Amino acid sequence: MTAAPDPATPRAPGPASARYVFVSDVHLDAAAPDAQWQFLEFLRTQAAGARALYILGDLFEAWVGDDDAGGERAAVLTALRELTASGVACFFLHGNRDFLIGEDFCRETGCQLLPDPVIAQLDDERVLLTHGDAFCTDDHAYQELRSIVRTPVWQRRFLALPLSDRQLLANEARAGSRAHTTRSVPQVMDVNAAAVTAAFKAARVRRIIHGHTHRPAVHDALVDGQPVQRIVLGAWYEQGSYLVREAGNYVLRTLPR
Ligand code: MN
Repeated sequence: MTAAPDPATPRAPGPASARYVFVSDVHLDAAAPDAQWQFLEFLRTQAAGARALYILGDLFEAWVGDDDAGGERAAVLTALRELTASGVACFFLHGNRDFLIGEDFCRETGCQLLPDPVIAQLDDERVLLTHGDAFCTDDHAYQELRSIVRTPVWQRRFLALPLSDRQLLANEARAGSRAHTTRSVPQVMDVNAAAVTAAFKAARVRRIIHGHTHRPAVHDALVDGQPVQRIVLGAWYEQGSYLVREAGNYVLRTLPR
């Protein structure tokens, strides 16, 4: 993976040493109302008053276009709009499930779409943020699929299909993915260590925050003799999970359901 340092990375305004909140892999879905209820509560409580909320992808189990924002999703968009209207900057990176989130979603919620990966300036620290699927280079079949569906040509063609066709195709893709496991919680291949090291070097950062693997943890390591840290966010299948940065300290927290 090649990191793309973005000098124009937006920096949220606010007092020094503010609170930053990170979340990913909520996998919101009509079939999981408990997770949705918990996420709405999270937006009203833990995320409220933060300088910024970073959503690092896979907020939704599937997203086939911004015209597919009806039903139970409307409540999520409204809650995000209320959060951003209250002064919390909300940034969104695409996951592998919701990479078709676009400008209409951002207009309705007040969220700002960031490229993946991106370097965020958190107080005096530069941190690389990414969904994490690009690190899973050992999963060759997935990386091949990713390289196809992330092209503008593929996305234009897909989004030109009627909504019902897109929903049908997404359901088929998910059924195919589920067929590989007997558990309801999908197992995701872990990151490739060399890909992570390369990202630390290319971005010249000491910290990376990502999700996708559903293996919440804080990994300390050395790159070129320098201490680095990789923080992995957790998924919301069985409980809530988020990361908070306060006064420069990071804490991974779970929310019992
Ligand atoms: Mn993912």
